[in-house]
Amino acid sequence: MKNTAVIGRFAPSPTGPLHFGSLVAALASYLDTRAVGGRWRLRIDDVDQSRSREAAIAEIPASLAALGLHWDGPIQQQSSRTAVYAEALAGLIRAEQAYPCGCTRREVAAQAERGPAGMIYPGTCRAGLGAHRPARSWRFRVNDTPIRFVDRALGVQTTQLDTEVGDFVVRRADGLYAYHLAMVLDDAALGVTDVVRGADLLPATAPQIALQQALGLPTPRYLHVPVVYAADGRKLSKTNAAAAIDTHQPIPALRQALEFLNQPLPEPRDTLRVDELLDWAIRHWTPSQCMGAKA
Ligand code: GLU
Repeated sequence: MKNTAVIGRFAPSPTGPLHFGSLVAALASYLDTRAVGGRWRLRIDDVDQSRSREAAIAEIPASLAALGLHWDGPIQQQSSRTAVYAEALAGLIRAEQAYPCGCTRREVAAQAERGPAGMIYPGTCRAGLGAHRPARSWRFRVNDTPIRFVDRALGVQTTQLDTEVGDFVVRRADGLYAYHLAMVLDDAALGVTDVVRGADLLPATAPQIALQQALGLPTPRYLHVPVVYAADGRKLSKTNAAAAIDTHQPIPALRQALEFLNQPLPEPRDTLRVDELLDWAIRHWTPSQCMGAKA
């Protein structure tokens, strides 16, 4: 089945080398896209330049290529898209869908309740900045319409943004654009139809859909796959120094990632090449099996 209208993507944050957790997310998105003959794009999520590492920006694409995960088209890089983010924020401000907030993190923490996605902003600056309070960040004004989407593995998800999340930051106090704003604009620019990513990003989906709606952008389909946890129970992440994938041994790394995703595996064979293993995995890709994974 060929469906060139399908566009998937992998969007790593370059905070360290590709580790097993990010390989799992990359592989799931790659297989899901290729299984329907779609195009697979690569984006470097370096909007948070305070956390990005130059070396990782070069290393991650090289590691993906060594693992046979070849992407289509040029690499999109968030740090080169600031003007797009600025224009979108200006539009939200004009439409009164974004407002300046003078609260420090400490002030928010002192008043906020905790929701599934962290602190729920109590709306302090919603009706306007108090006298002599300088604007620090910009927040998106959420409303009381529930956000509902169907995750392809997890089923119907409903979030009440006003009571569960609150007005969220779209431009941070340090001047950087927030990930939610950047990523919806980037996915739309790439024409992404299918987001496949780790289930740790499930709570990010409703705020992102709300932004898509406010900016008149299409909402893609979503498939959240299990997250890899370290033995200490924390999510494997580049920032907690998870081991880099040994790209000199692509077959064992790919087999392990397929196994984690609860996918069938071909008989081990000494002569199996990376492209043959990936072709086999593309033909046998069963997204509904992912949630049986041993997360
Ligand atoms: N850049 C994000 C991360 O590495 C993933 C973004 C996404 O897949 O939406 O966690």
